[in-house]
Amino acid sequence: MGLLTGKLLGHHKYQHSFLTGLLIPKGPGTSVNEYNGVGVDHWYRARSHYHGKRNPWIFLGLFFALRILFDSRECFRYVTKHMRREKHGHRDIAAEKVDAGPEENTRLMKEYAMAHPEVDAVGVTRMTDEYRYEGIEEGNQYPWIIVVARAMKYDEIAKNLEGDFSRVLTQVIGGYERSQKAAVDVSNWIRERGFYARGYGGLTKRSTEFHLTIPPAIAAGIGQLGKNGSMISDKMGSAFRLATILTDMEFVADKPREIGVEEFCVSCKKCTEDCPPGALNDEKVMVRGTRKWYVDFEKCMPYLAEHKACGICLTTCPWSRPGIAPSLSQKMLKKMARRADAATS
Ligand code: SF4
Ligand code: SF4
Repeated sequence: MGLLTGKLLGHHKYQHSFLTGLLIPKGPGTSVNEYNGVGVDHWYRARSHYHGKRNPWIFLGLFFALRILFDSRECFRYVTKHMRREKHGHRDIAAEKVDAGPEENTRLMKEYAMAHPEVDAVGVTRMTDEYRYEGIEEGNQYPWIIVVARAMKYDEIAKNLEGDFSRVLTQVIGGYERSQKAAVDVSNWIRERGFYARGYGGLTKRSTEFHLTIPPAIAAGIGQLGKNGSMISDKMGSAFRLATILTDMEFVADKPREIGVEEFCVSCKKCTEDCPPGALNDEKVMVRGTRKWYVDFEKCMPYLAEHKACGICLTTCPWSRPGIAPSLSQKMLKKMARRADAATS
């Protein structure tokens, strides 16, 4: 056992480092999986473990964050840019409203977003309690949430399959910074039209409006949830980052899209096999009233913290290989259609 990095003792048998062992909280009330509602068969609002005051994993989280910031100048730069933009990047809201109506607002906003160099996909949906963390009420006044997605460079992140996690780290942190730039720019486009809008990225520290991103992204048609606990898109596979915009401009909501992810994931075991600490599962888990794919945080987080990144489950996913996702989606949709036809004939 090393001081900072543990070792793999066998398939899915990961022994964490001495320091991680000290930082992992122990005892009653320290299980993040319990805190996340694993095994609970009724719905309640999600709790934020990154911003909550009762976070017993805070020391491991800080250890992780400090290692990233001290070890990678590039990441330090991304985080600083993200923070500065969050604080100073939003323009004043124009005094006069320019409202083209929901359909035209949607068309123009998407046209602007898709022309942005840091956007590969955009969708919009209504903000609901499902996307708001428990105890965070301030964001309730904004009825819409726009989601923008930015692809990461596969060749860079795939270095993690060779044991080099430095490139995936800069792609993840850089991806958060780039998608946040897009979100703030889209917000400013809305603000210039006299409506409230604020862009959020994955590194946000603005806890008062902190919200979930994957559920609204699914509702907005960006992609579907994969067995690896991340989203899969029919354009970018599983290698992308999300950022959001809360706003009161009126839009037409997008719909969730069937792209064949579930059909593929039920018979694929690539990510569950390849996850070093065995944090992924081939069976869905009940989480706050919904059976879904779930990442065991208590196995994933120590591994992430020790290696300063991981993302093996993103790169190993067949959907993430460049150029594969669109055709894979078509193939799965055809397979599903054939089965539906056979069932009705
Ligand atoms: S990030 Fe790494 S440790 Fe976490 S679930 Fe994915 S493969 Fe497993
Ligand atoms: S690796 Fe396979 S099972 Fe895992 S998310 Fe990708 S398609 Fe689904």
